[in-house]
Amino acid sequence: MASYKAPLREIQFVLNDVLNAGQLAAVPAFAEATPDTLNALVGEAAKLIEEEIAPLNASGDQQGCTWADGEVRVPDGAAQAYKLYWQAGWVGLAHPTEFGGQGLPYLLSKVVEEMLCSANVAFALYPGLTTGCFEAILASGSDQIKQQYLPKLATGEWTGTMCLTEPQAGSDLAAVKTRAVPNGDGSYALEGGKIFITSGEHTMADNIIHFVLARLPDSPPGIKGLSTFVVPKYLLRPDGGIGERNGVRCVSIEHKMGIHGSCTCSLQFEGARGWMVGQPNTGIQNMFVMMNMSRIMVGYQGLGLCELATQNAIAYAKDRKQGRAFNGGEQIIEHPDVRRMLLTMKAVTEGARVLAYETAMYVDLAHAHPDAAVRDEAQDWVELNTPLVKAFCTDSAFDLGSLAVQVYGGHGFIREHGIEQIVRDAKILCLYEGTNGIQAMDLVRRKLMLHNGRLAQRFFAKVRSESTGDAPLGFIAKPLREAVDELEATVHWLQQSFKTSPEDAGFGAVDFLRAFSLTYLGYNWLRMAKAASAGTDETFRRAKLTTTQFFAARMLSQVAPLCRGVRNPAGELMKLEAEAF
Ligand SMILES: Cc1cc2nc3c(=O)[nH]c(=O)nc-3n(C[C@H](O)[C@H](O)[C@H](O)COP(=O)(O)OP(=O)(O)OC[C@H]3O[C@@H](n4cnc5c(N)ncnc54)[C@H](O)[C@@H]3O)c2cc1C
Repeated sequence: MASYKAPLREIQFVLNDVLNAGQLAAVPAFAEATPDTLNALVGEAAKLIEEEIAPLNASGDQQGCTWADGEVRVPDGAAQAYKLYWQAGWVGLAHPTEFGGQGLPYLLSKVVEEMLCSANVAFALYPGLTTGCFEAILASGSDQIKQQYLPKLATGEWTGTMCLTEPQAGSDLAAVKTRAVPNGDGSYALEGGKIFITSGEHTMADNIIHFVLARLPDSPPGIKGLSTFVVPKYLLRPDGGIGERNGVRCVSIEHKMGIHGSCTCSLQFEGARGWMVGQPNTGIQNMFVMMNMSRIMVGYQGLGLCELATQNAIAYAKDRKQGRAFNGGEQIIEHPDVRRMLLTMKAVTEGARVLAYETAMYVDLAHAHPDAAVRDEAQDWVELNTPLVKAFCTDSAFDLGSLAVQVYGGHGFIREHGIEQIVRDAKILCLYEGTNGIQAMDLVRRKLMLHNGRLAQRFFAKVRSESTGDAPLGFIAKPLREAVDELEATVHWLQQSFKTSPEDAGFGAVDFLRAFSLTYLGYNWLRMAKAASAGTDETFRRAKLTTTQFFAARMLSQVAPLCRGVRNPAGELMKLEAEAF
């Protein structure tokens, strides 16, 4: 069985020594979030997660969810663990105090989320989707709707869903057909079917609040005719208490490759009463407001699985004896190829952690910093980084899960070790909340174009100023400067070609996102190397510098060939007719 120990030393290093998260305490809204408070809360969450939630990961995978007569049963222990989790206050950590949250930094809630996802990513979806629903209502709901729903979503006493997908409407939400017909009393009757709805039905919470994308009868077709609605499983009585069952029911659940502990439901809306959130036909704008948050959340699911794969592979490689290595060592960690895999895993996981935490810190600065210029710059970073966090962390989770199986050899393929579960659980992260192909298009098509290319320019300027000079870290600083030059040339090529030949830009988008992410990780490794060098822990410093060397020589070097490939026109490749494949 895979085991999980929260990497508190690594987490604190990134928060305190690399990112100086203590700066958040200077923002009036987060005056209480001193480094000591953050460290103490992370430690407390780690304890609960390791002791109560991680042990349910393997059993939840094996037992899965079941459905009978419209009722969904979650795996044994999940309901009790969820109650423990929300009652301890972890769901509402970063939600505003006026709605019953604790008003702490979003960054802190994401650190906790990383640990929760390492421990049990399927379980993490229950509070995760609840947060998504909370954020959507907070962003666009009327005061009345906020008062009715947010306090119980903030604490996690009620859970939430995001109901977008229909059989014909996946990546392309313009095709959504679910209808919302006015009842004449301010409410709407929703009719239609949604598929793949995470946490769509269960009895772990007293109520489930669905956030639904649907179409008014007189709305224009396509993306401009969508509106958003809140549809509770149980209608609320005038005093806010739980009333009658609403007309939404679960008609089946999916049998999936992974995340078996999370129920994925087909929901039928049959005259279900709902209330509009936001204005008519602004559904897509409403969704976009919370989209960054949901995508960052899925990126953290990926980060969590990267950490789980890495720490288990390292522990196994230190223990397993097989053959004699060139250096005489017996444990497989002494074999160069095993070391290559472990260093890849460390380099990606620790580098991605800085990317993910920095992005979350920018979310806090963008929301709460008193200086508008700081808020604007932070928002640029959130926009730029969101597709990187979502796609890079989740692709890496799948890749690192696979590497972990490789480190375990045949034993990794056997269920009892729990390593193959990481691969199965990781794949969905690359698919939902916008597939990683869609993330790459978001980066190329939207983020590179925003404000005349200002977002990428901010990144280049920051990395160049961090990587000046060569001694003593020239082994990473120099290739990092070269990578930035390659990336910048590629950004110009994409900005140009997108206008004249969007297929060229679309073809290279996924490789470009990887090249961008690797360059960002190079920047992170440079900063980690500096921070570790300034510390007093010699073993920690050597581990960081060796991993930096590995990253510089073997991963950052992938940026140039990736960029050269991206800059290849794709015209001929697109001409091949579908029948000829
Ligand atoms: C376990 C699970 C849980 C889910 N949870 C939820 C949930 O809670 N709520 C919800 O609403 N949905 C949920 N989903 C749905 C999920 O978000 C969609 O599956 C996803 O958006 C992709 O849609 P699709 O499956 O229809 O794939 P398609 O859209 O058919 O995509 C197929 C392929 O085509 C590519 N593609 C499509 N359009 C483009 C384009 N414009 N440019 C480039 N490539 C493109 C995609 O990248 C992909 O590779 C869940 C799905 C699963 C499996």
